[in-house]
Amino acid sequence: MPPFIRSDLAQLTAYTSHPESAEQPAQVDQLDTNECPYDLPEHLKEKLAWTYQQQISTNRYPEGSHVELKQAIAAYVRETSTLSCSADAISVGNGSDELIRSLLIATCLGGQGSILVAAPTFSMYGILAQTLGIPVVTAPRHDDFSMDLEAAQAAISAPADAPIRTVFVVHPNSPTGNPLTAAEIAWLKSLPEEILVVVDEAYFEFSQQTLAAEVQHRTNWVILRTFSKAFRLAAHRVGYAIATPELAHVLEKVRLPYNLPAMSLAAAELAMSQRHELLQTIPEAVAERDHLYQALAQFPGLQLWPSAANFIYLRASSAEATAKLAQDLKRQGTSIRHTGGGLRITIGSPAENQRTIAHVQLALEAS
Ligand SMILES: *Cc1c(COP(=O)(O)O)cnc(C)c1O
Repeated sequence: MPPFIRSDLAQLTAYTSHPESAEQPAQVDQLDTNECPYDLPEHLKEKLAWTYQQQISTNRYPEGSHVELKQAIAAYVRETSTLSCSADAISVGNGSDELIRSLLIATCLGGQGSILVAAPTFSMYGILAQTLGIPVVTAPRHDDFSMDLEAAQAAISAPADAPIRTVFVVHPNSPTGNPLTAAEIAWLKSLPEEILVVVDEAYFEFSQQTLAAEVQHRTNWVILRTFSKAFRLAAHRVGYAIATPELAHVLEKVRLPYNLPAMSLAAAELAMSQRHELLQTIPEAVAERDHLYQALAQFPGLQLWPSAANFIYLRASSAEATAKLAQDLKRQGTSIRHTGGGLRITIGSPAENQRTIAHVQLALEAS
């Protein structure tokens, strides 16, 4: 590394979304990043193309305050929760990844604090914290992947130079698919107001469970959502935070100016206005998830966990067998994510899910 680079960045590796595998066939089912299997409907793509041609001047910066998009998001939040959400309670990011980084900057940067996560969970909290030199404290989970709350509480109570300032949870968790339990929610509610609670609801449209209403009474809670999963806009990188207007305003202070490209802004606005059509794929995803779960549960030697999201988490009989299953699936053209000692398999189209089942069967028969 060049000598002017921070030495603590030496052990970090750059994030790779689809690690290349030499033996992978040309046709691959991409079931490793939890996207929706379906592109935007043709008529909506045409509408976006029209917007690009007729309404976007590429020489001009995009609208930088996101007013209309925030109003549309606030209406969607009101429609799906009891929160009396207004546009000033929303901040929009270049993916929720940007919002995670903004929250870290706003709470922990410069030796001000550490973050707490329970492993396995979404890797970006730890990765982004490390890039900012923010310490990451990891609590364990039980066999059902609920958090070990005693350990989490002990971590928070332990004296430290950089006390825990922010707790990140996913509801339902990735990669394991479990929603927060009543005990976990009660514990999060018990945290003092000098600790920020971040509830990442990236999979809300699949789980239909939200803690958005808590933001009404809790100044130290923020909900994160994304357009990358149910709304089929991963290509456009749009996420949003639901918070108190005070916290949303802080997020506005630390974000980059013009953080959303004009096309992404247009795509997210379109998704909000056409949400009923776009979300018509959700019942199929939920039914396919349950079908895939039932089918995979038939194979001896596989351990599966119930999922409230658009993916399933499983392990084979040992760590070696799990790693081998991941390799065998990739070789057959089913790309899945091997993380946290298990495999996270995205729910794809019915045809993709059939191939997943067939490829798992072949892999297990061969071993
Ligand atoms: C996919 C995912 C996101 C989405 O991130 P974007 O940057 O909005 O694409 C956020 N959190 C979790 C837990 C996810 O799985």
